[in-house]
Amino acid sequence: MTSQLPIVVIGGGTAGCTVVSTLAAMTTQRIILIEPGQSSVHDDEPAFFNVLSDAAMSRSVQTTLVDGGQDKPYVQAHVLGGGSAINGLLLTGDEPSFLHGLTRMATEADCGQVGAALLTENGRYSRLWWNAGRWNPGRAVQHLVDEGRVTAITDSVTYLEHVQRVVTVAHTTNQAIEGSLFVMCAGALATPALLLHSSLERAVSGIGDGLQNHPTITFTLQLKVSTTQRFDATVVRESRSSSGAKLLTVAYERTNAENATTGLLTISLMDPESRGGVWRSNTAMQNDFNMLATIRDRVAMREAVRELIAAAMSASFSAISHQVLVDSDGTSVEVLDAMKNAELDEWIADHLTVVSHAASSCHEVVDSDGKVRGVGNLYIADSSILHSVPPCSPAGPVVIEAARIARAIGETLT
Ligand SMILES: Cc1cc2nc3c(=O)[nH]c(=O)nc-3n(C[C@H](O)[C@H](O)[C@H](O)COP(=O)(O)OP(=O)(O)OC[C@H]3O[C@@H](n4cnc5c(N)ncnc54)[C@H](O)[C@@H]3O)c2cc1C
Repeated sequence: MTSQLPIVVIGGGTAGCTVVSTLAAMTTQRIILIEPGQSSVHDDEPAFFNVLSDAAMSRSVQTTLVDGGQDKPYVQAHVLGGGSAINGLLLTGDEPSFLHGLTRMATEADCGQVGAALLTENGRYSRLWWNAGRWNPGRAVQHLVDEGRVTAITDSVTYLEHVQRVVTVAHTTNQAIEGSLFVMCAGALATPALLLHSSLERAVSGIGDGLQNHPTITFTLQLKVSTTQRFDATVVRESRSSSGAKLLTVAYERTNAENATTGLLTISLMDPESRGGVWRSNTAMQNDFNMLATIRDRVAMREAVRELIAAAMSASFSAISHQVLVDSDGTSVEVLDAMKNAELDEWIADHLTVVSHAASSCHEVVDSDGKVRGVGNLYIADSSILHSVPPCSPAGPVVIEAARIARAIGETLT
């Protein structure tokens, strides 16, 4: 059934732009996208650290990694296209079939010395969200806006008004937008935060429960020579812990846009059991990834770090680096190598790094078509509805789910 009131999509990131494009192809009903970020001007830039250095494209929130630990900044997209406009371009899982031809495998010509060293240590080239340009779903949406088929409002939603379990209005900083149907796509931290702030937990239980991320440890390589390369990261290594947990090592050619004399080696636990949450206290929204909360995750991460130490101390990495440092105090990898398990576990808890792969904070809230249980016209289609953080780079599963949910919504409109 169509309605005079528009469909309102909240958040124009990886999922939100996929939802808008899919719905625009299925219905003539008006679509409004509310996204605070502008279009990206960096889609031809292969080196993602250069994109990230544009401060207009991202912002951080404080998040806790380990229960009771210190808050750390979590980088989030703030741009049309969301994470897909700024991400590291790695696509380590399957290419979404409907994007065939818009991604490609990395090649030797794309790769620098750090990637080449990991290749000799059982690494492999990754697929990239790149084929003569970055795959950014914000571009297709910008065309729809330019053609007048979609209305984009550059603002943040602050509150959802609802009456008897039906959402009626999305309030932004500057205006109130009525809609017939609302699709939340603000990401795995902002979507539950907005639902909780709108007091929807009175109608829906489980908002914010189950938040996950990929626990990660990062080493810095002090390179003997600085080199230029096309992409900042092209090579990954997949492995398993003794319990079968999935591990992913990534080689980065630089540390940031300014520094070409250091590279990075990271290792992540890709299928953690541990879950945290997003919740509302009296004073503020809070989130805690609660990483490494289970023994299986702690042991898997310890084995992961031992594996990273072995790679960093291998002949391949010794050939390109003066030294490998494991923290900002300048501790060398050899010191870490000498630690007994208990000491290493403590070190890991203190040095876990945050990656921008938050997921799964609303997976208990929706049915299989993304519809929020107990609310008549509210859907969620972003990374928050994934059952768990994907065991691969996450943008692929986010796109696949967003497209599937948008098609399910579209079918209810015709
Ligand atoms: C720096 C970085 C590097 C990454 N590297 C990789 C990689 O190499 N490979 C990979 O597969 N994945 C990578 N990811 C992860 C991937 O990009 C995310 O998993 C994916 O983008 C999540 O999609 P989403 O739609 O849930 O959220 P996002 O894409 O983050 O979109 C959320 C959007 O909602 C908007 N928003 C937030 N709050 C509000 C509000 N109140 N009102 C309206 N709009 C709002 C934001 O501005 C944003 O545009 C990376 C992410 C980051 C940030």
